[in-house]
Amino acid sequence: MNDAIFPAILPTYNRTQIAFDKGEGAYLFATDGRRYLDFASGIAVTCLGHGHPHLVKALTEQGSKLWHCSNIFEIPDQQRLAERMTANSFADSVFFCNSGAEAVETGIKMIRHYHHVNGNPEKYRVICAEGAFHGRTLTTIFAGGQAKHTEGFGPEVQGFDHVAFGNLNETRAAITPETGAILVEPVQGEGGYKPADPDFIKGLREVCDEFGLLLMFDEVQCGNGRTGKYFAHEWFDTIPDIMATAKGMGGGFPMGACLATAEAAKGMVAGTHGSTYGGNPLAMAVGNAVLDVMLEPGFLDHVTAMGKVIRTGLEDLVRDFPDIFVEARGMGLMVGIKCADGVVNGDMVEALRQAGLLCVGAGENVVRMAPPLIVEESHIAEALDILRQTAATWGDGGGNA
Ligand SMILES: *Cc1c(COP(=O)(O)O)cnc(C)c1O
Repeated sequence: MNDAIFPAILPTYNRTQIAFDKGEGAYLFATDGRRYLDFASGIAVTCLGHGHPHLVKALTEQGSKLWHCSNIFEIPDQQRLAERMTANSFADSVFFCNSGAEAVETGIKMIRHYHHVNGNPEKYRVICAEGAFHGRTLTTIFAGGQAKHTEGFGPEVQGFDHVAFGNLNETRAAITPETGAILVEPVQGEGGYKPADPDFIKGLREVCDEFGLLLMFDEVQCGNGRTGKYFAHEWFDTIPDIMATAKGMGGGFPMGACLATAEAAKGMVAGTHGSTYGGNPLAMAVGNAVLDVMLEPGFLDHVTAMGKVIRTGLEDLVRDFPDIFVEARGMGLMVGIKCADGVVNGDMVEALRQAGLLCVGAGENVVRMAPPLIVEESHIAEALDILRQTAATWGDGGGNA
């Protein structure tokens, strides 16, 4: 029953008053018939755009064969995807789940279990970064450590310490006999599309080796080709022991994965972890199809090339509109533009939407763009035109500065 006293959908989101009923490549079509250039991609999810023929084929073919059967049975497509993911990454082993938060949570469980089987159960604490985002479960909000997410959800889930993102000295100083791991996003997502300094990431690896800690990366957002490598940490020539990923991995089909080395995963034997849906045949058909496209020769080079085009365009905007935009940032096709003081990123996102371009706000007053990885130069030109037009008319009706 709903007597309209409370919304039928739990009102946990601020929604824009618009609905879409069709997607095609880099475009979304709203129910009022308007077309939008989609540089939000469902927050870095629809990495191959909307309605990619290879994904539609994989989904519909599998949809008429078998959706689900449970991990109590063998799932050949899961085996195949795990072998392909490990063949193309640092990892020896993969656990499949349904979301980013679950993938991170799997990694945190693995960290605790690793030290447990090593006879050091006191090493349960994880050093995380300020400005981090790791998901919305009870554990992952405390791993993220942001007051806006944890406020009112105590008692605190124990085990997380926070240091400034990029500060190696502070990280070292935070290590205690109870520290078991360091967890960071190689490129912070919600925090404002902030790439880590390569020396910081390399330094974390050295610190972990020196103190017997596990290094875990959260590549839920920056993984799966988003930065022009299969996983972002490849740019830093540093491998983790554990890595969470999700978002782009399914191109819009919900799935996540936790990848690990054999050493880090050694305690995760039968019964230590599980998921009803994780890695089911329908998800795995789509996951394999996404990877088919991503591993095609030249695909990731295209991401890097398009990333350079959009980055140059954003830098031009910063130069031409210093009162509106103050910094271009990001890596590959994970790019952001920081708004000047007095320009609220949310207002900018709304003005851009009204002009036909979908973006998303992020931390530090950044407007973030995560175009589909199949984006072409013409789409980027269209987006930059809208940004330029919106900046040029800001304050005289184009915005509320
Ligand atoms: C989105 C995100 C998550 C959480 O993923 P969900 O699928 O929403 O649970 C975790 N970490 C990072 C870096 C993310 O961007």
